[in-house]
Amino acid sequence: MECGECKWCNPIDNPRKGLCMYERIKLSDTQKTSTAIKSKMINKNQEACEHFEKGSHRDNIDDLI
Ligand code: SF4
Repeated sequence: MECGECKWCNPIDNPRKGLCMYERIKLSDTQKTSTAIKSKMINKNQEACEHFEKGSHRDNIDDLI
């Protein structure tokens, strides 16, 4: 599994990289620290972490708006 297949991976200008939004989604769940948005840059071909969920970032688009 690679980050590029994960639904938390959001595209950026560089086709080989993405932004992992996993922590951002988790933060918004708490409603306490909505300004502390944390996203991290990842390589799409790096090995997936334990939070991997298969799917498209579009699955989350409602959560991000
Ligand atoms: S596998 Fe982990 S690091 Fe990679 S995009 Fe998904 S949540 Fe982020």
